Amino acid sequence: LDARIVVIGGGSAGATAAKYLKHYAPGLRVTLLEPNETYYTCYAGNWYLGGFRELETLGHGYGNLRDRHDVEVIHDRAMAIDPGSKEVDTRTNGKLTYDRLIVAPGIEFAWDRVEGMGPEDTEAIPHAWEGGRPFEVLRRQLKDLEDGGTVLVCPPEEPYRCPPGPYERMALIAHYLKQEKPRAKILGLDPKETFSKQDLFKQGWEALYGDMIEWIPGSQGGAPERISVSDRKVFTDGGAQAHTGDVINFIPPQRAGAIAQEADLVDDTGWCPVNQKTFESTRHSDIYIIGDAAVAGAMPKSAHAANNHGKLVAATIASDLRGDSLPDFPTVNTCYSLVSPEWGITIAGVYEHQEGEITEIEGAGGLSPLDADRDQREIEAMYAPGWYESITEDIFG
Ligand code: FAD
Repeated sequence: LDARIVVIGGGSAGATAAKYLKHYAPGLRVTLLEPNETYYTCYAGNWYLGGFRELETLGHGYGNLRDRHDVEVIHDRAMAIDPGSKEVDTRTNGKLTYDRLIVAPGIEFAWDRVEGMGPEDTEAIPHAWEGGRPFEVLRRQLKDLEDGGTVLVCPPEEPYRCPPGPYERMALIAHYLKQEKPRAKILGLDPKETFSKQDLFKQGWEALYGDMIEWIPGSQGGAPERISVSDRKVFTDGGAQAHTGDVINFIPPQRAGAIAQEADLVDDTGWCPVNQKTFESTRHSDIYIIGDAAVAGAMPKSAHAANNHGKLVAATIASDLRGDSLPDFPTVNTCYSLVSPEWGITIAGVYEHQEGEITEIEGAGGLSPLDADRDQREIEAMYAPGWYESITEDIFG
């Protein structure tokens, strides 16, 4: 196959797509554009916050993609896309032409929907929702917290990257604090009414941390309205209540990564509408959007989902270029969450494409049982690092 595929973004979705394109069609020229030489996963980042995983172990380089899989890796940022001339403009490497383009930039934060703080305040009020350094900032603040202090965790509204992430985070911050500062408290201030794996999380929180974690939903005044950075306050309930945090982990609302916004790949929601079978943009042809940036029906925004999109789109593009019929295989999501290093809970889903929609196949996935015993929780906690090793090997190995 004599064609060039450019992939923007070497994260969970883009790196998978680049690798599998070379796997399905070794003759293709595949160029991966990614500014960072090391990709730090967000997944397992909460384990680092909990004090039982080193941050360095979450970093992955691009050597295997380059040397083992013959992907052309360029460490640069895509600045603009011209769908007419089929060119991507880069910061320092000029213009790259493509036959097909994959856009996988992940998320950006919708700071225009946040009152009282912006990106310049994230050293004081860290989000730890992008891999690497942002996690370090939050961890340092947790280490500096006095016993008896309060940690505010403010999850975002839907849709956002990793639905169970904020709730695993509350648990694992509690795990750390219980050992080091047992009088500290964690307060979850949430715009939502319910959250992923809620009963399982609440059961684990109570069993392991008693009343250390309190969670307030939007209807009970939990929704953050405004933040005051200088005196470390989060105002909720229409501004009626002020909560002071010694540490504030405010996770901002999200939308598709900046390049998707700039390249007219998003609709009014801020996310990228795509053909639900092929992941091709409904706005510009020959451009495919995968991972968190895409609207993928019932699939959550997760690394596991992003990895599945990457494989599906690689097979789709290879088939299409060959003139073969397009693949239509089911996709999968699995999300392990740790409530402690010995207490794991899982959600899994299998998805199919039907009549223009991605829907979950009933009965094919499921949740950890609520009445499982401690042995079962411990076994699932052992599976979680296994999942991490296998998915990162699949993406970067
Ligand atoms: P990303 O992985 O963010 O990759 C995007 C890449 O694009 C980045 O490397 C970025 O540098 C690059 N990029 C952006 N703009 C440009 C540009 N203009 N030019 C070139 N490159 C660009 N998922 C799970 O499945 N299981 C979990 O247990 C799990 N735990 C999580 C825990 C936390 C705390 C968080 C925050 C997330 C977790 N996730 C988990 C979700 C997971 O991290 C994301 O869903 C996943 O990384 C999405 O992949 P992506 O490729 O779309 O985006």
